[in-house]
Amino acid sequence: MVVVSTIVDLQSRLDSIKKLSIGFVPTMGALHQGHISLVKKSIEENDITVVSIFVNPTQFNDKNDFQKYPRTLEQDASLLEKVGVDIIFAPTEKEIYPEPDTRKFDFGMLDKVMEGKFRPGHFNGVAQVVSKLFDIVKPNKAYFGEKDFQQLAIIRTMVKQLNLPLEIVGMPIMREQSGLAMSSRNERLTAEERAEAAIIYKQLSESLKYSSDHNIEETIKYVTEGINDAKHLEVEYFDIVDGNTLQPITDWNSTDYIVGCIAVFCGNVRLIDNITYKRTN
Ligand code: AMP
Repeated sequence: MVVVSTIVDLQSRLDSIKKLSIGFVPTMGALHQGHISLVKKSIEENDITVVSIFVNPTQFNDKNDFQKYPRTLEQDASLLEKVGVDIIFAPTEKEIYPEPDTRKFDFGMLDKVMEGKFRPGHFNGVAQVVSKLFDIVKPNKAYFGEKDFQQLAIIRTMVKQLNLPLEIVGMPIMREQSGLAMSSRNERLTAEERAEAAIIYKQLSESLKYSSDHNIEETIKYVTEGINDAKHLEVEYFDIVDGNTLQPITDWNSTDYIVGCIAVFCGNVRLIDNITYKRTN
């Protein structure tokens, strides 16, 4: 604590507090090392790091998925304390939605494909909660994982559409030793399913080499069939898209940023992942 007696001293102290940069990591909790990589980056780049933990009802199109979503606040808090987070924001639904949010966002074609197509309303819900959280926290930088590749593109677009004064930082996918992308949903897999789920990334990785002398249609077939061969795995979609527009492409030469995005049911747990085929821009 300090006691100050001059206006200049008081104001310069207040100015320096106001100048503290705020880094923000929005999450739905059940934290793993993927989340922690975002948190560590925020701590490295900002004076204060805020992590929100809120399982947002408006982004779930499947009530069962919402109810079954793991909630482990105590464990999450102790993990975040260890890495040095300053503030955890764990609001109730009433706090975030004192009134129903009826806003409708328009992301053009960005949310008409992949997750947006198979989870109708999902990205509108994501935009509702993230725009509210940005307004509440007022961060200088916010950190998102490339695991949710389409979400990251949509958040970047929303920030532009709303002229929000913050920077969005995208972070690489963290994986388990088996290659499986880390996810809170992995906790819901049986041991056998979890072992099999590693095939998803194995097949994606192998398709990098395969793609060098096969066309897009063949590569899609290679990935999809390779995964569907596994007992517990069922591909919902595998799209090879322009990494900027997210629209499916049919020719490897049509753009210089190409990403393959996949959603797979492993038992009744839905997992997503992606791989970059080409990035020269
Ligand atoms: P969630 O709690 O699933 O909403 O995720 C919160 C943030 O963590 C999102 O920006 C995710 O993209 C990111 N994230 C989730 N899993 C991973 C991962 N395996 N690697 C990197 N970031 C991740």
